[in-house]
Order: sequence, then structure tokens, then C-alpha cells
Amino acid sequence: MTAITPIDYEFDRQHIWHPYTSMTHALPAFGVVSADGCELTLDNGKRLIDGTSSWWACVHGYSHPYIVNAMQSQLQTLSHVMFGGVTHHPAIEVSKKLLAMTSANLTKVFLADSGSIAVEVAMKMALQYWQGRQQPNKQRILTVKHGYHGDTFAAMSVCDPEGGMHTMFGDAVTKQLFVDAPQTPFGEPLQPDDLNAMRQMLTNQHESIAAVIIEPIMQGAGGMRFYSADYLKALRALCDEFNVLLILDEIATGFGRTGKLFAYEHASIEADILCVGKALTGGYISLAATLCSDEVAQGISDSPSGVFMHGPTFMGNPLACAAASASLDLIATNDWQAQVAQIEAQMTTELSPATSLVGVKSVRVLGAVGVIEMHQAVNTAQLQQAFVDLGVWVRPFANLIYIMPPYSISATQLSQLTSAMLSVASTITAPTNTEANKQFISHG
Ligand code: PLP
Repeated sequence: MTAITPIDYEFDRQHIWHPYTSMTHALPAFGVVSADGCELTLDNGKRLIDGTSSWWACVHGYSHPYIVNAMQSQLQTLSHVMFGGVTHHPAIEVSKKLLAMTSANLTKVFLADSGSIAVEVAMKMALQYWQGRQQPNKQRILTVKHGYHGDTFAAMSVCDPEGGMHTMFGDAVTKQLFVDAPQTPFGEPLQPDDLNAMRQMLTNQHESIAAVIIEPIMQGAGGMRFYSADYLKALRALCDEFNVLLILDEIATGFGRTGKLFAYEHASIEADILCVGKALTGGYISLAATLCSDEVAQGISDSPSGVFMHGPTFMGNPLACAAASASLDLIATNDWQAQVAQIEAQMTTELSPATSLVGVKSVRVLGAVGVIEMHQAVNTAQLQQAFVDLGVWVRPFANLIYIMPPYSISATQLSQLTSAMLSVASTITAPTNTEANKQFISHG
């Protein structure tokens, strides 16, 4: 057995930022030395069943030989090369697969380096498109409250205006247009007035609106809210009526998470611009993509610059494309529908007893997403430790104790996760809102 190099926690605490944390009052971090299947191994040898898929990305589990082999062989031939003036097999392969699996109207792929960048790219595309259509006044983005689209500035500007980082950064964040979040729950017919505010805003402001951006069916980091497919269908119709593009952010929902390959399929609609990321590479390495229609691409070509103004250094990174290509092969060949349906059924049965717990506000399940919403914000650090003690990896945020396990999780492993969730939720009987619980919208 190879000896494990001890983790230098002190160095980590003193010098390395972790997501959404303080550098002066660092929260504890657990040392992970390896991961395989649906388990993480800590430096003390303890194994934890993973309920997070590493922030919703690692859908096939860790160290999957098919993805590892694809990455290893790509490394040996071409790890990276600039994408300006160059192309390569991995970018072409992954783009072909993406176009084949998404709606027929989407024909162009921009390979971005992260989800936030895919959103920036989508917003830029929408703005440039309208320049090319001689409507340069269409520059604002309309969205719904409780959204989350990433941490870069344009992405932040369309995150929830209260829970997001708007107040923190003031005027540096572009003022976008917001209406109330969808209220009709998933699986229910549209409540008659649910889109009134959206219609009103479009009626009044459509001449200045370039696009509507929304997370289809599930608002993730903004509250794990599942809403009606009818809402999405009606929103598509409204965008057409008012000549506004529809950007769907499938970064969290794409590749099967909600029970359909893409969440927009619940509503049988098409996006003008589609963002994907996270599970695109199976969670092995960062890559995202923004897809658009011929019409959007043509509009951009007709804009004064004639070219699309974005091109990061690591655009189309071959190693990331090879991982994504392998992950998409697994999506094509694994029976993810059956896996997600099984996870959904099991979570529905096993999480429902949580409804009777005193601290619990609601329990909901959709696809491979299981959520216990508490009345009050929880203490993330405390709960995280409690979960580790129970042998599972679950990272609650705000008032949500949730899991999004890898699709390959076994029934036994999933039961361990759900029973840990019940056990931890049952310990919360009073408000635990403390300094440790930043309520900002993030998956932190
Ligand atoms: N969009 C959605 C819906 C997300 O859930 C996230 C991340 O959680 C992002 C965008 C940002 O992606 P990334 O963290 O890769 O920048």
C-alpha cells in the first residue's frame, strides 16, 4: 500500500481560498486523497459516500475507467493547443455529439472554460445578435428571481437580486430586469397569473430586452425550486411574441439530472441559446459550452464587428474535450434514464418521513435531486461534520439539505445518504442561523 502524504492543513488554512469562504476565519476543509465509484477517501482512510457529485458534475462516479483512459490517451498526444487558427479531433468530436443530442435548431457550439463563462458568452451572443439585426437598443437581460447563473460579473447580474451578490458589488453589477420566480410547482398545470409579471415586463420593455435567461425546470443554487413545464412552454411563446431570445441555462440540469436528458424536454421547447457545463465532462475537468441557432450566429455575423468577440486562452482544450466526449459516450450507452428513475423513486420513499420533522419546511424530489428544505438556515460547517461522522459527503447551503448523487450510486449507498439526511435534519429543532451561514446564492 502506498503511503499517504499528510495534508498540510495549516498551509491550506493560511493561504488558499476555498469557495465562498473567509481567508481569516476559514471553515474546516476535509482532506480528500482519492475517489472512486461513488466514494471519496479522506486522508485518515475514512470513506464517504458522495451525495454531491462534486457540485452536480460527477454523474458517472469517480475514476471511471472509460473517462480516465480517454483522458490518458489524449494527454499523450495533445494536452493543449491554442484554438485560434487551429482545430482538433476532440473539439470536433464533442461538438458533433453535443449537437446530435440537443434540439435540432441548435447548430453552433462555443467551447467555454466554465459554466459562468458559458453564461457570459450566451449574454454576449444575445447582445451582438441584436446589433446585427439593427436593434442595438436591445441590451438588457430579463430573468426571474431565485436564479443562479455563476459568479462572474455578467452572470452575477442575472442571479437573484436579493440572495445574489448585487448589493455587495453595487453599481459594478449591471442592472438587469427581474420578475418573480415561477410559482407553479413541477408537475402542475400553470397557475393563471404565474406569467403575468413576465408578460407585463415584456410588454413595457421588449424594445430594450435582448433575451430572457432562465434555468429550465429547476432553479438550483437559488433554492432548489422545481417549477412547472407549462411555465417554460408559455415563456417560450412569450419570447416569440415579443421578439426576444430565450437563453436556457442547463448547466445544472443538463445530461439527465431532472429525468430528461435536458430539462427543456419536459416542456418540449427549444432554446435560441443553450448553456451546458458541469456534467459535460462527467465532472473530471472544467469545460462548458454555449450552443446557438443558425439565426443567432447569422445575426452576430451581421453585427458591426462581424465576429463573435470572445476567445479564451484555453478555449476548446483538447484534454477537457476528450473527457467530455467520453462522458457523452457513457450518457449514450448507460441506461441513465433507468438509473435516475430508480434514484427518484428511492429518494421519494426514503426522504418522505422528513416531512414530519419539526425543523423541516418541505421535502421534494425530482429526478436525481432530493431536497429537505428547513425552516431556518443551517450551520453548514456543523452539519458537514455531522455528515462526515455518518460516513457520507453532503454539503448543505442556506436552509437546504440536499443530495444530487452520481447516477451510478447503488441502492444501499443511496439509503445511507437518505438516512443520514433524516438523522441530521432531525437534530435541527431551532433556528441555527449563525455567522457561518452566509445566505448568498451560491452552491457553497
Ligand atoms: N449556471 C448554473 C445553473 C449553475 O448551477 C452554475 C453553477 O452552479 C453556473 C451557471 C456556473 O457554473 P461554474 O461554477 O462552472 O462557473
